[in-house]
Amino acid sequence: MSAAERFDAVVIGAGIAGASTAFFLQSKGLRVLALERDQPASGGTGLSAAIMRQHYSTPLMARLAHAAVEIFQNARALLGRDAGYRRAGYLFLVPPDALALAQKNVAMQRALGIDTSMIYPDELAARMPWLNTDGVAGAAFEPEGGYSDPEVATEAFIAAFRDKGGELRTKTAARALLRDGDRVLGVVLDAGNVHSDWVVNAAGPWAPPLAQSANLAMQMRTVREQDTVWEAKNGRPLPEHSISNAVDAIYLRPLGDRRYIVGRGFPKAYFDVDPYNYKRTADEDFIADVQERMALRIPPLEGARLINAYAALYDVTVDWYQYVGPRDGINGYADFCGGSGHGFKEAPAIARELADWLVDGRVDEDFRQFSYDRIAQGRLFVQSYGGNRG
Ligand SMILES: Cc1cc2nc3c(=O)[nH]c(=O)nc-3n(C[C@H](O)[C@H](O)[C@H](O)COP(=O)(O)OP(=O)(O)OC[C@H]3O[C@@H](n4cnc5c(N)ncnc54)[C@H](O)[C@@H]3O)c2cc1C
Repeated sequence: MSAAERFDAVVIGAGIAGASTAFFLQSKGLRVLALERDQPASGGTGLSAAIMRQHYSTPLMARLAHAAVEIFQNARALLGRDAGYRRAGYLFLVPPDALALAQKNVAMQRALGIDTSMIYPDELAARMPWLNTDGVAGAAFEPEGGYSDPEVATEAFIAAFRDKGGELRTKTAARALLRDGDRVLGVVLDAGNVHSDWVVNAAGPWAPPLAQSANLAMQMRTVREQDTVWEAKNGRPLPEHSISNAVDAIYLRPLGDRRYIVGRGFPKAYFDVDPYNYKRTADEDFIADVQERMALRIPPLEGARLINAYAALYDVTVDWYQYVGPRDGINGYADFCGGSGHGFKEAPAIARELADWLVDGRVDEDFRQFSYDRIAQGRLFVQSYGGNRG
């Protein structure tokens, strides 16, 4: 039998989490192997709405979302190519019962250096003639928010990773983790074993079985998330921003000329599914519900034409924040999964701090809370809006 191959780090999964982690690890001089069962961005990342916002209710997530905007803005310098970011602005519409929270969170975000401010209904109506302000108590607006093209972003990180000498193997599944006592030694591939100092589990909704193959627990729900794409009629005033609408529980972002991705936001019913076997088309009643809600709030979208409707997966953790980093009692293993329906935008910023943690042992105290250990320690994240609104 031939000897196992050896790398400094193996990253499992080439969604935005794995792609950006592979890049930042390789940038530190490690020899990194990235494994992808299918193609980069073939999981939730490729179908993500990829709305970019910094409006979060915890200083940790707000600072990471802020850092991520800077990474996306500086992609040409950092990655040598564009990462698909569009500075379209981000609007968060707030109902009366969430207004005080939104004001508090905007103040917290501003203290972190985020360019954001509250806008109230009269000004909203004047600035955004496409908006029905009935029931809207106010809105937070970030000019630097917007959206990214999630495939372009993932491919940019992968290409830059390869430029630096990193190796990507597509159509190559990690079948299991190799564990000996308190150490994960590497991964099992069909072609043989690969040994490494670090294994990063960035397999999204498919991360739990990999963890379990090394006898590591991972509490995660896999729920189906549906989205629709609509094309508005010509000659109407239309939004150019990405919008989270907490008044009607929908979100929306531009997708080219007169087109929008529109989905239902928290709170709503979430249905657990088998990540290996779920319905990939959207349900008729979901499409009708979204159509009604969007036309109510944005009347120029009345009569919009349905272009596409599909379903993908959210990998939801116990508190809707990612599991990131090493765990007590096991060496050579780190999590980076559980984006919980909001994990695209901040992934590169998390990846950068994860690389500092694994390679230099340098980690901020607030970031350390991301470890899966927070469940056993009773240190779950507490956020003010609930669900993936963060
Ligand atoms: C419909 C939808 C809309 C969303 N909208 C937003 C949004 O507006 N803003 C936002 O910030 N976030 C959003 N999210 C969430 C965000 O897209 C995800 O949190 C993020 O893309 C997850 O990236 P990931 O790399 O962790 O996982 P994934 O993209 O799922 O990547 C995991 C990868 O691992 C691979 N893999 C799995 N098992 C193995 C194995 N054994 N061996 C090798 N490879 C393996 C898979 O093929 C896959 O490519 C949305 C998600 C969905 C589904």
